[in-house]
Amino acid sequence: MNIHHWIAGKAAPSASGRTGIVWNPATGERQASVDFADPGEVDAAVAAAKAAWPEWRATPLSRRAEILFRFRELLVANRLRIAQRISLEHGKTVADALGEVARGIENVEFACGIPNLLKGGFSEQASRGVDVYQIRQPLGVVAGITPFNFPAMVPLWMFPNALACGNTFVLKPSEKDPSAGMLLAELLREAGLPDGVFNVIQGDKVAVGRLLEHPDVKAISFVGSTPIARSIYEAGTKNGKRVQALGGAKNHMLVLPDADLGMAADAAVSAAFGSAGERCMAISVVVAVEPVADALIAAIAERMEKIKIGPGLEDGIETGNDMGPLITREHRDHVASYLDSAAQEGATIALDGRRHPATSRSGFFLGTCLIDNVRQDMGCYRDEIFGPVLAVMRVATYQEAVAVIHANPFANGTAIFTRDGGVARQFQFEIEVGMVGINVPIPVPVSYYSFGGWKASLFGDLHMYGPEGVQFYTRGKVVTSRWPDPATSSVNLGFPQVR
Ligand code: NAD
Repeated sequence: MNIHHWIAGKAAPSASGRTGIVWNPATGERQASVDFADPGEVDAAVAAAKAAWPEWRATPLSRRAEILFRFRELLVANRLRIAQRISLEHGKTVADALGEVARGIENVEFACGIPNLLKGGFSEQASRGVDVYQIRQPLGVVAGITPFNFPAMVPLWMFPNALACGNTFVLKPSEKDPSAGMLLAELLREAGLPDGVFNVIQGDKVAVGRLLEHPDVKAISFVGSTPIARSIYEAGTKNGKRVQALGGAKNHMLVLPDADLGMAADAAVSAAFGSAGERCMAISVVVAVEPVADALIAAIAERMEKIKIGPGLEDGIETGNDMGPLITREHRDHVASYLDSAAQEGATIALDGRRHPATSRSGFFLGTCLIDNVRQDMGCYRDEIFGPVLAVMRVATYQEAVAVIHANPFANGTAIFTRDGGVARQFQFEIEVGMVGINVPIPVPVSYYSFGGWKASLFGDLHMYGPEGVQFYTRGKVVTSRWPDPATSSVNLGFPQVR
């Protein structure tokens, strides 16, 4: 199978001669190849989006919303098909992929409200006979560059708002699981979206480089790792584009001694090992405030041993496993290497996922791993591992735990588990992290708020989706208007005043 671009309403095979391999992570087999665009093919996608823009931005808001409502219905009807495709290319279980699609659909629902979202302010009689009002207008062609870990949801963080606001879109999905973007393109066409309004360009950094320098691309939304996010932000803004670039994460879960330990352990295990830890909101560090650590670790380990690891789908049938493989063999080996370095640096390997029976399968499997006695100077703490590895740090006080979180360069999400409302309130007030959970381990905001971290987890000013997404994909224009009585008109060279 060959996966192509989607330009001007149809699949467009590449002539670049460059392709990438799409693996089946559950079997370790090559299942498809994906086209890699050359700069000319990126130009063709941008040209299609540019040609479609004048008509699309002139399309009434209610008509744009109508197409999005229809798209939403098609997503609901096709959610299993999309989830199964994600499971085959990414490796996550079908149930997990269905959750990703559901969270993506929420963003379409938000964008369906665009007639309300684009209402501007109006000041009547700002001066005698003068009214002032603000309108928000689309930017033109905008692009989205997305990571492998949410091949449907992250594009759905971006383009529903972008299209609803009247922009046209070029998506560059991850080359590791490129099919979901194509399924979304097909459903948009079926929903009645005019050709060229949404395009997909497959590829690697060559395609990204061209999008970053293309003069007709007005804004870039990026989600991926921090080094790439930083470079995308720097290159894009240098070229005069609006950029929001979301990066990596190291999310801490602080557990206080008064917390319900069973609930905290359930939350830590779900948030650390769901999607094999390949989530930017995964909990990767539990910060246990003593004397809670021993009991908490025992409760976590007990739950880890019950996790069923294996393929999400076998011969097209759902297996009922809880956790699938990692995305590639290299990534699996890289993740596993942190167990060696952690042991060398003096941490305790409480559970070693390299010994799990699933690792004898041909896919890219690793069992769940638990590392105790982790310190801030260790590689397994400093780096974003992005796999099924949970680190535990033991600290003496709440203040020490907060200092650990503040010293970390990432600040995507964090969570506190406690029964003490006062401490939870203090945590919410002082913690320097973009998304905070109080007894909620994965605080991904609902679609009518916006998603984004702080510090090295976000480059740019505006968070993604929700109200900040609408702001990102539009620019303000303020109109000062007078319809004077011609009888009162006269020449006046003084500076206009309002009184
Ligand atoms: P990645 O940075 O390797 O790739 C992201 C995108 O950038 C892909 O489309 C890829 O093709 C492209 N890319 C890769 N290298 C490039 C280069 N040198 N130049 C230009 N483009 C390049 O990320 P990934 O491995 O696909 O995804 C995992 C990462 O994404 C993790 O770090 C995770 O934390 C992060 N992530 C963050 C969020 C968030 O909201 N903050 C959400 C999901 C994932």
